[in-house]
Amino acid sequence: MNLSASSIRNYRQCQTLYFLSNILRIAPLVEPEYFRTGTAWHELHETFGDMTNLDTDKLVEKLDDMYSDLPDYFDEAKANYEKKTMLVTYLAWRNYWDVHGDTYKVLESEIPFEIEIPGALVRGKIDALIEDEKGIRYVREYKSTTEKIDIQLKDGMSLEPKFWGQFKMAIQPLLYNWAAKQFGWDIAGVQYDVWRKPTIRPSDIALLDDDGLKIVLDADGNRALTKAGKPRQTADKAAGHIAQKRPMEPEEWADKLTTDILKQPERYFGRKIIYHTHQDFKRLNRSLNNIIKQIEFIDKHDAWDQNTDQCLQYGSCRFCGICFPGLDMTKDELPEGFKQKI
Ligand code: SF4
Repeated sequence: MNLSASSIRNYRQCQTLYFLSNILRIAPLVEPEYFRTGTAWHELHETFGDMTNLDTDKLVEKLDDMYSDLPDYFDEAKANYEKKTMLVTYLAWRNYWDVHGDTYKVLESEIPFEIEIPGALVRGKIDALIEDEKGIRYVREYKSTTEKIDIQLKDGMSLEPKFWGQFKMAIQPLLYNWAAKQFGWDIAGVQYDVWRKPTIRPSDIALLDDDGLKIVLDADGNRALTKAGKPRQTADKAAGHIAQKRPMEPEEWADKLTTDILKQPERYFGRKIIYHTHQDFKRLNRSLNNIIKQIEFIDKHDAWDQNTDQCLQYGSCRFCGICFPGLDMTKDELPEGFKQKI
């Protein structure tokens, strides 16, 4: 049995999710947005993380390449917005940590590991091995989230969002810290480098006439006028007055996002180091043993349960298209929109 931080997360979320994704190795043709942007974020760090002088043309090329294999039915405008989001955010991330005195040196990036334990091969990829000015080393994990990450002050007290609290307990940093120790690396802890995804979105832009006034039309398609005979500047759905708009261009979205990041960068970027104790490593050992035994039992009895509470979490599960119609992937054909992973 192969285990990794993501397969453990799948198993804990829903046994069927683990079975479909990690045993049958099925995946959607187009991953949901949260998954796609998270993968893209990692890929940018993997490709450009070690580069001191970033070549922006190469970054654009890389993004074009990453988004080139989306199927024809995928909304092109959405892909273009998403590429701009990744471009702007990656540049802003580099700039933010340069300005905030990033003293960490990336010694190695994307370090794969495979460690045999009784009953399983534990596999994974450490995002980076980093070193601070004093020569203290850490494992770095890049993470993207939709949750609030910025620490704020209230009544003079520093309020840490719940987001950061979860990592002391989380299995992924613990697993990577453990893996690093198996290599014989002398590391002090795991640094989480987090990007909070934008909460703002591309919006429609009002169409203006030659005088710079908004164009609002009435139900007959004529310019809606005020009582004073001037062009209306506000829409009124009930009266059938509709403001004319066009979708934002990707460049305009890039400007809007850049402005927002520059205004409040700590909402977008954050770092924290997680330290683990001997007790934590004992906990990991216990968790791995439990998971291995449970999966062996479920697999032997073909008793994969469904955690239906998870189906519509985070937008929706990637496998609703299989579970909701009740398909049995050990017998039925792969439905449209899914592929067999290599
Ligand atoms: S759709 Fe629901 S039951 Fe099916 S794998 Fe996802 S979470 Fe599990």
